[in-house]
Amino acid sequence: MRTFDRSKEAYQKALTLMPGGVNSPVRAFKAVGMNPIFMERGKGSKIYDIDGNEYIDYVLSWGPLILGHAHPDVVEALKRAAETGTSFGMPTLIENRLAELVKERVPSIEIIRMVSSGTEATMSALRLARGFTGRNKILKFEGCYHGHGDALLIKAGSGVATLGLPDSPGVPEGVAQHTITVPYNDLDAVKLAFEKFGEDLAAVIVEPVAGNMGTVPPVPGFLEGLREITSHYGALLIFDEVMTGFRVDYHCAQGYFQIEPDLTCLGKVIGGGLPVGAYGGRAEIMEKVAPSGPVYQAGTLSGNPMAMTAGYETLKRLAPEDYKEFERKIDRLEQGFIQAAEKYGVPLTFNRAGAMFGFFFTREKVVNYETAKTADLEFFAKFYREMTAQGILLPPSQFEALFLSKAHTDEDIERTVQAAERAFAKLTQ
Ligand code: PLP
Repeated sequence: MRTFDRSKEAYQKALTLMPGGVNSPVRAFKAVGMNPIFMERGKGSKIYDIDGNEYIDYVLSWGPLILGHAHPDVVEALKRAAETGTSFGMPTLIENRLAELVKERVPSIEIIRMVSSGTEATMSALRLARGFTGRNKILKFEGCYHGHGDALLIKAGSGVATLGLPDSPGVPEGVAQHTITVPYNDLDAVKLAFEKFGEDLAAVIVEPVAGNMGTVPPVPGFLEGLREITSHYGALLIFDEVMTGFRVDYHCAQGYFQIEPDLTCLGKVIGGGLPVGAYGGRAEIMEKVAPSGPVYQAGTLSGNPMAMTAGYETLKRLAPEDYKEFERKIDRLEQGFIQAAEKYGVPLTFNRAGAMFGFFFTREKVVNYETAKTADLEFFAKFYREMTAQGILLPPSQFEALFLSKAHTDEDIERTVQAAERAFAKLTQ
């Protein structure tokens, strides 16, 4: 029997120190009716909490840890980097190395700027798109998360193409009115939005595989259609690959789907577990960024040697074959989950792309936020608690993606499938 006494105690203390006791909302475990679990250490595919409980980790720090926790070579490189100075605020060779490596694998990125989070990357890319096109509006998709910049914290109202309403107090309506939101995978809605606002649309920003309403891949033709429409209207196509970058494919989602965006945002995996984001794209556009151009963006810790080292050492250890292995292992998870769900009459839809995946407790095909919301959230919360009790750590929300690392073994996968089957058996008694 697992106990969580020390986590409980730590949470009580944290509640007096941080909003909701946490430094990022979903860590509060509210959606699954649990207290947060405080972690102590990780190794490979496993993570250990402060009560000494071990878990197979499918959260992986929300995506960055594609090599697993504390990869010995990355740790060694970080120790060496720390010994020679953690930050200089001056150019270093490791920035060139990481930039070159990213460019090699992502041909649409001719010039890249490093920042310190995915939020910074998307905010900066939007400013650049507006500066480059001289237009104001942007189009995003309902259920896609692009960090917490004001212009991107907007949800759709009803209707096909609605003017944005602020999704959070503190986002001025004057900002929100420039964000148009339409359903994911709905090209007709995109066309309508362009017919109405096309002259003033600076960019479409999209997660090429959505990962923030659970995992939702693009339907065939969707990304191609976005490329066509944006080119037609002279708007930029921004792929937010903060989550999908180097996770869906060796060449990112854009390589997998063979679509060239104008700008790409990166984060998570390119930081290897340290705070990194980046945005890049065609030289003609990126040259507008200061100091080569007038669009301002800067950062005290941007490109710092620790973060660059973690990113470089992580990317270097990924090969095209690794993505075949990810697929093979996720094949088994998919098949195992579907068989177990069928055996116990649990409605389940499984979605996946490269090394990210997710399941929804619904019989509907999940292609956008509306269909994602048909999932049975109460059942998810119960299932979540059963999996946690069996040592399987999933993201504590139905609307988050699951991740695999190179450290996950076939044994981890089998244990996960067996745990799911036991959970279904118990919950359908
Ligand atoms: N874009 C996407 C697609 C994300 O998934 C996230 C974070 O989950 C972000 C942007 C924001 O990145 P960060 O949390 O590093 O600011």
